Amino acid sequence: MLYENNYIEKLLGIKGVILKNIEENDTSITISFKLKVKDHICPCCGNITRKIHDYRTQIIKEAPMFGKHTYYKYRKRRYVCNHCNKKFYEKASFVPRYHRMTSRLVSLYINRS
Ligand SMILES: [Zn+2]
Repeated sequence: MLYENNYIEKLLGIKGVILKNIEENDTSITISFKLKVKDHICPCCGNITRKIHDYRTQIIKEAPMFGKHTYYKYRKRRYVCNHCNKKFYEKASFVPRYHRMTSRLVSLYINRS
């Protein structure tokens, strides 16, 4: 199981990924996942928390795989600080800030130009 997770981490380039589902049709592949729960530092008061507040689903376009449009269905987790009650999203290194495309897709475009 641990081996499989490592393999998926490497394949997708997402650290701490927990794969939920892969849906495929004639034109696209959708990969559903969330990230492992881990300690997060509250951006407001610096307290360490791993208390989950809620989840939002985010669709992210990935570079095509096997000649098909590829999307991530990412269950983005929000933590809540048990000291100051601040709610904040978990850290996700695969999504560049303010972009809806992943780093892998961005580098693909850069390499082409
Ligand atoms: Zn706090």
